[in-house]
Amino acid sequence: MADDEFRYWCEECDYRTPWLTESAGAEEQIEHYDHHHPGTPPGGRVELRAKKTDGAGCLVVLGILFLLLLATFTFRYWP
Ligand SMILES: [Zn+2]
Repeated sequence: MADDEFRYWCEECDYRTPWLTESAGAEEQIEHYDHHHPGTPPGGRVELRAKKTDGAGCLVVLGILFLLLLATFTFRYWP
């Protein structure tokens, strides 16, 4: 699911593939051209879904906070 970041748009009509992996999307587009635009080389454009990094960024912040907390306790109770 995390890799479904690509959507292929047909150049000849309004068709676009669902969000798929890069290879699955390309295959889907070629198949669409085969069925709907025979003899036309596949064209159009690829849309890349913006990655959601909010979760990862939050984890990084939590990790840094945890390390700071750990350092604080380590130095406070240093003999
Ligand atoms: Zn088309």
